[in-house]
Amino acid sequence: MKPAAFRYHAPKTIDEAVALLAEVAADDGRVLAGGQSLVPTMAFRLAKPAHLVDINGVTALDRLAVADGKLVIGACVRHAAFHQPVCAGPLGPLLADVVRHIAHYPIRNRGTFCGSLAHADPAAEWCLVLAALDGEVLAKSVRGERVIAARDFFKGIMTTALADDELLVEARLPLLPDDARAGFYEFNRRAGDFAIAMALGIYRLDGGKMVAPRLAVGGAETSPRRITQAERALDGAVPGDPAFRAAAAAATAAVDPMEDIVNSAEFRRDLVLAVTRRALERAAK
Ligand SMILES: Cc1cc2nc3c(=O)[nH]c(=O)nc-3n(C[C@H](O)[C@H](O)[C@H](O)COP(=O)(O)OP(=O)(O)OC[C@H]3O[C@@H](n4cnc5c(N)ncnc54)[C@H](O)[C@@H]3O)c2cc1C
Repeated sequence: MKPAAFRYHAPKTIDEAVALLAEVAADDGRVLAGGQSLVPTMAFRLAKPAHLVDINGVTALDRLAVADGKLVIGACVRHAAFHQPVCAGPLGPLLADVVRHIAHYPIRNRGTFCGSLAHADPAAEWCLVLAALDGEVLAKSVRGERVIAARDFFKGIMTTALADDELLVEARLPLLPDDARAGFYEFNRRAGDFAIAMALGIYRLDGGKMVAPRLAVGGAETSPRRITQAERALDGAVPGDPAFRAAAAAATAAVDPMEDIVNSAEFRRDLVLAVTRRALERAAK
């Protein structure tokens, strides 16, 4: 099928883009970034935006830089930018590991980090990363700018705190300290599919014990989130099988898994047990 008719707009600056959004948002105007989620839904006529504001010509949104201890990822930075580590310390290699799980090479060449966040698929890897690291996003409209913390950004399946006329200008991830250990594990049935469940575990070592642990789960619930019960099981424990199993059991008990026609909630709960433990084992390697 072909998309329904729409008007195409090609701003060159962030100000032009937000001014256009202010005009067309009420008329179901949408931002077009990589188009890897929006265009298929338009082709199936699940989405029929009357206006598309194509941000690909806004060069200011290509920014990928480190500033104030954070990796700043502009709205037009593609998934493929992360195939190689983009910053010093453990964050660069972590992102390079995670990105290999997102779709396929041609989709990674076009789809954007921030488009994934705005789309907010519960199984999107970048959404899990933002939640695990307590990252933030910068949103801009003609009414002004605001910074939204990850915990306030995701509001459920494909729902975020962004208003219809707001442009997600950039995402910001705190850099990880040099001694941080991070591990990611995802389960899906075919390479390139969305995760059915995935986990990201991060901790540091102090005197051989885990400190400042972070454990986040994605794909299982309507939004990715840190699971504090699992983090408590890790905090101050020696890294290894007993602590990892305890954290995995705590995560499994804490989640409220989604159900669909293929995957029952109980299956997803079981997967949380496995992906959590494996993510932590990878962090320990
Ligand atoms: C076959 C296939 C497999 C895939 N597998 C995965 C996968 O395993 N994991 C995964 O995470 N993703 C997967 N994707 C989705 C892909 O990662 C998309 O690139 C991503 O979800 C959306 O990014 P985009 O830049 O393409 O956004 P678009 O498709 O352009 O936009 C998506 C939505 O976000 C809005 N939007 C985009 N950018 C902004 C912005 N800056 N400000 C405000 N709103 C914005 C748009 O208006 C639209 O509503 C897959 C896609 C396909 C086609």
